[in-house]
Amino acid sequence: MSNQSTGYCPDPGCWTAVARALDRVGLPHPGDFTERFVFRRCPSCGERNIVRDDDFTCAPCDSALPTQWNVTSG
Ligand SMILES: [Zn+2]
Repeated sequence: MSNQSTGYCPDPGCWTAVARALDRVGLPHPGDFTERFVFRRCPSCGERNIVRDDDFTCAPCDSALPTQWNVTSG
């Protein structure tokens, strides 16, 4: 189970909401995402990035990415 959703790009911190939803419908879950993806939208070029190895740099334009999750849908 992972948070990889290229449409919604959720922050790994949303696990608690996922766990609550799974608990409510009685589905077993691993206790956390088994794979975590950190998504950020570049404030300069607007491109969505997947942050790897804590490198908060936009791949297309080399701008610094924010440390806080900022990917909104649309
Ligand atoms: Zn950029």
